[in-house]
Amino acid sequence: MEAIQWKLLPLLTLLASFLLFFYFQNPSKKYQKNCSLLPHQHYWITSNRIVTPHGVISGAVEVKEGKIVSIVKEEEKNGKTKLENVIDYGEAVVMPGLVDVHAHLDDPGRAEWEGFPSGTKAAAAGGITTLVDMPLNSDPSTVSRETLQLKIKAAESRIYVDVGFWGGLVPENAFNASALEDLLNAGVLGLKSFMCPSGINDFPMTNASHIKEGLSILAKYRRPLLVHAEKQLDFESDLGVEGGSNDARSYLTYLKTRPASWEEAAIRDLLTLTKDTRIGAPAEGAHLHIVHLSDSSNSLDLIKDAKSGGDSVTVETCPHYLAFSAEEIRDGDTRFKCSPPIRDAANKEKLWEALLAGHVDMLSSDHSPTLPELKLLDDGDFLRAWGGISSLQFVLPVTWSYGQKYGVTLEQLALWWSERPASLAGQELKGAIAIGNHADMVVWDPDVEFDLDDDPIYLKHAGISAYMGTKLSGKVSATFVRGNLVFKDGKHAPAACGVPILAK
Ligand SMILES: [Zn+2]
Repeated sequence: MEAIQWKLLPLLTLLASFLLFFYFQNPSKKYQKNCSLLPHQHYWITSNRIVTPHGVISGAVEVKEGKIVSIVKEEEKNGKTKLENVIDYGEAVVMPGLVDVHAHLDDPGRAEWEGFPSGTKAAAAGGITTLVDMPLNSDPSTVSRETLQLKIKAAESRIYVDVGFWGGLVPENAFNASALEDLLNAGVLGLKSFMCPSGINDFPMTNASHIKEGLSILAKYRRPLLVHAEKQLDFESDLGVEGGSNDARSYLTYLKTRPASWEEAAIRDLLTLTKDTRIGAPAEGAHLHIVHLSDSSNSLDLIKDAKSGGDSVTVETCPHYLAFSAEEIRDGDTRFKCSPPIRDAANKEKLWEALLAGHVDMLSSDHSPTLPELKLLDDGDFLRAWGGISSLQFVLPVTWSYGQKYGVTLEQLALWWSERPASLAGQELKGAIAIGNHADMVVWDPDVEFDLDDDPIYLKHAGISAYMGTKLSGKVSATFVRGNLVFKDGKHAPAACGVPILAK
């Protein structure tokens, strides 16, 4: 008897090793359970308002193992298609998840400002399924392979939505082709640089020759360069603050220190370089993207001309430039300080016009939080307070609510917030409800009004957000990231299963 047991031992050990091997090789079932608030990986979502690239349809979207595998219109169902595990959203809108190409989550190094967990929980609650993190405001800045690896490590198992990374183009690496290539090979989706001081000492500004170098490297990789386009013109900035009569608590004082001519000057410089991105030109394949445009006059005209001349250029603006105007900002309310600044109401109207006409290509949050004490809310000093608007969780209802007056459609929201930003970030499997794509979707109700102050907010410092105290319409009820139901009615999935996105 004993002899037989001893003989079985190696066999049993082998069997146990096999089982352990398969468990660790394929832990998806156990893993999946915590990643999603749904019990299954194969299901159908039905709604009367599904936003696809071919219009808004009534029908069903089939999701299997993280991907969209079929889309059936209501009238095509005709009894043949058998739907299983149906989640019926009725009149709620099912739209591609938002892709926010401009967010500062400040992790690692300044996670007390935001951090990956709170930032991506807020993103999920706001219907954002992918965001691209900026290379500055974390410590260190993402300017090399090593610093990118620190970002990826900080993101692992701590992100509720998918997160990609922009790398920094700074004077230190701009003339060092092998350093830039190393950073691009490590997986950043593109580069970002500043034409004025960034507000963070370890992320210095670049000049036109740095940018030219950057574009020539990026051309080979076919990845974009994102630029903060403001160029300091000393004469005008002095006009704004000197003379003693300027009150630092007045928003108009701050506005005068960063006139529209700064944006115009920077864009004029940039557009001499983008001629190189035309077909047949030396930097063909490179693309220049102007972040957070505020000036809707001369700057925008320059961009329109460059586009029609064949330059590979796009431009984004942010909800705060579309929602607020300088006239309404109260003395000392530094929650509204950002750069470039929010300009007057006439500028805002023109910005909406440009967005609706397609001259502004897309929207981004530029979520840029900090510690409440750095916002100097008590002093209300606009000149010394941290510049940056905190908004990540609210961008969808903000765009929708303020866009009502302009007749914004669901298709336009999907274009500005999903399709075009996904394409800028090189994510062809994201940004649209289409067969084969990642099942990244937001379910929301355009008609439900809510008070921000009554709603759970997942941002680390909700109080610094310029939107607090307002009422918005358009409430997010569910968010799916690669098929995982990561947020539902005020509840997040137990595990943070977002994926760090790296370019290959
Ligand atoms: Zn920014």
